[in-house]
Amino acid sequence: MQKIIIAIDGFSSTGKSTIAKQLAQHLGYVYVDTGAMYRAVTLYAMQNGYISQNEFNISDLISQLNNIELSFKFNTSLGFSEMYLNGKNVEKEIRTLEVSQFVSQVSAVSEVRRKLVEQQQLMGINKGIVMDGRDIGTVVFPNADLKFFINASAKTRAKRRFKELLDRGDNITYNDVLQNIKSRDYIDSTRKDSPLIKATDAIEIDNSELSLEEQFAKIMQLVKKVLKSQE
Ligand code: C5P
Repeated sequence: MQKIIIAIDGFSSTGKSTIAKQLAQHLGYVYVDTGAMYRAVTLYAMQNGYISQNEFNISDLISQLNNIELSFKFNTSLGFSEMYLNGKNVEKEIRTLEVSQFVSQVSAVSEVRRKLVEQQQLMGINKGIVMDGRDIGTVVFPNADLKFFINASAKTRAKRRFKELLDRGDNITYNDVLQNIKSRDYIDSTRKDSPLIKATDAIEIDNSELSLEEQFAKIMQLVKKVLKSQE
């Protein structure tokens, strides 16, 4: 059967990665979490002192971009790929609120975007891929076979994310999470380079009131339609 490219974009914590993972598993496709790549670059900048409480040394980070090697390795027991930064598994470290607080500033840097977009486009060369992010349907794969734009209210998203972080044992408040989501939404959708916008041909899905099963069924129906049209 013909393999396709599925692009999933949307605001922070809308559950894009959950649906992308479900789809990839069901279709036997590769799943790529591009947010993890921007998070890993942010972690690198933090570890190397390019980001401190109030300062972000953009030129130092840009000068070191060639020393950042990002890769994904499939974890069979988890059923998805984990993020590696220069050969080290950073899957857990990149999900902290600290990284979330700086990632939108790092991802607004054009040189960072250019490097990651190039790598993402290479991953899609053989199709059979589900990729989620902010610019997948607009910049990375403008010709993707199917594009979704996932949305949900900021409060619903903050509640979900807060629960996730609490379950991991992070010491955070609901308000911190809500503020972070609102601030990332703002920076991501107003930045100059590749702002988060819905591609004109993307299908918008608001999942505030949808269960995971309902969302999956709705999206699978659309995937099947596209696959059938390509037979
Ligand atoms: O998807 P996630 O919330 O983990 O993404 C973290 C951040 O990475 C986003 O808030 C955004 O700033 C950046 N990002 C991006 N382009 C992508 C994916 C993520 O700018 N394709």
